[in-house]
Amino acid sequence: MFELKEDHQMLCQMMRDFVAKEIEPHAAEWDQKAEFPRDLYRKLGELGIMGVCIPEAYGGSGMDLLSLALAVEEIARADGSAALTVASHNSLCSGHIALAGNEQQKKKYLPALASGQKLGAWGLTEPGSGSDAAGMRTKAVKTEGGWILNGSKIFITQGSVGDIAVILASTDAQKKQHGISAFIVELPCKGFSVGRHLDKAGMRASDTAELFLDDVFVPDENLLGELNAGFTDTLKILDRGRVTIGSLALGLGESALDHAIKYSAERRQFQTRLCDFEALQQMIAESHAELEAARLLLFKAADRQANGQSFCKEAAEAKLLASEAATRACNRAIQIHGGYGYSKEFPVERLWRDAKLCEIGEGTSEILRLVISRRILKGA
Ligand SMILES: Cc1cc2nc3c(=O)[nH]c(=O)nc-3n(C[C@H](O)[C@H](O)[C@H](O)COP(=O)(O)OP(=O)(O)OC[C@H]3O[C@@H](n4cnc5c(N)ncnc54)[C@H](O)[C@@H]3O)c2cc1C
Repeated sequence: MFELKEDHQMLCQMMRDFVAKEIEPHAAEWDQKAEFPRDLYRKLGELGIMGVCIPEAYGGSGMDLLSLALAVEEIARADGSAALTVASHNSLCSGHIALAGNEQQKKKYLPALASGQKLGAWGLTEPGSGSDAAGMRTKAVKTEGGWILNGSKIFITQGSVGDIAVILASTDAQKKQHGISAFIVELPCKGFSVGRHLDKAGMRASDTAELFLDDVFVPDENLLGELNAGFTDTLKILDRGRVTIGSLALGLGESALDHAIKYSAERRQFQTRLCDFEALQQMIAESHAELEAARLLLFKAADRQANGQSFCKEAAEAKLLASEAATRACNRAIQIHGGYGYSKEFPVERLWRDAKLCEIGEGTSEILRLVISRRILKGA
């Protein structure tokens, strides 16, 4: 569990080579312009990274959750936004179809998603329901041959660039979380519109949009999973998603630490290298130890998932620890860079802005603490 197997090591090397050539040179500019690099995801599709865990029978790479986590971590070392795009596309939209889809749906949608020819979005959050996701207001009402969806979604990654969206909607309001279903919506379609793009602090080259559904017709065959089981499936999707967001945070934190180490060895004050000041050595040691601990928890969660064990608590712990460790590592990296760290001349301020999202998306730190404590205190 502590050493990566050869195939995982090879995947990391392949990703490092790709990231150095195709992502790192452009990351700062994409962030500055808030530009979504659509072509990048076609190239990542050719590499098998847009369908990492999708079975080969549906055009994916058929690899495990740890492989997806490692790929996301390698991308995040250079670009949090690209890592978020890859993580959400794989774990949320494609992951939901792979988990709950019937044979016909998997054959129809997964190959194009896995190849990167189509991008996936996943709509759970609404203006009035974030952490309390089951309190959603978007409704799906049965009609002849399908369903009519009405409502709105917010903060949806790939919301304006996605070709296929999985939308969660209430199908039986009385049953609350047991009355929510998932629907596959092909975009664009009649009644669907994109509202404002969110002008974000970080993850600026990732697409985040508000979506409106105004009498959108979804045919019966696009009900994803069992009727009223959409929220139960969502919780499983989020367990996997938390491992990838934790890995994204880990990549950002490691990158910040690497930049801090390099800078502190080059810069001199008082005729002394910064890295020879004990105060900065303490910061570097703390970041390293915290990120290592997060890595081990991420491995543990992915390992339990691979062995078919419950991993909800471990995924929540891993994401909680990794995201908070990453934010602290980025914060310290800026401090070590002094005034230069606060400027856009060095990448640490971007890493810091990107890392903060990991404490919010796919379960805030507060909600993760609830998830963990509920499991620990069960039966107490
Ligand atoms: C860049 C970005 C991308 C995203 N991508 C997607 C996506 O693709 N699809 C999607 O569906 N959603 C997405 N989200 C939404 C994200 O999952 C939510 O923002 C998140 O779940 C928090 O919901 P909220 O923003 O409504 O905050 P709220 O739920 O309003 O929370 C506000 C604060 O209150 C705290 N809080 C809430 N309830 C409790 C409680 N019971 N106990 C203690 N504290 C509590 C929270 O921890 C937080 O600190 C994205 C968000 C961002 C910023």
